Amino acid sequence: MSSKLVCSICGSEKSIPVCCEKSMMVKDGFLLCCCSDECGYQPIPECCGKKMEYIYH
Ligand SMILES: [Zn+2]
Ligand SMILES: [Zn+2]
Repeated sequence: MSSKLVCSICGSEKSIPVCCEKSMMVKDGFLLCCCSDECGYQPIPECCGKKMEYIYH
């Protein structure tokens, strides 16, 4: 899997944070761990004042 977070303004890229040895997924504007809502839950990183976009490959 090579999903990543990309800034739509400046194009900078960031790898998806990992929790429980899996890439976190995006739901309702937050990054969630696949295993449990309580395990990993963090805001999507921002760049250029906007939330970065989650790009699937
Ligand atoms: Zn986890
Ligand atoms: Zn940016």
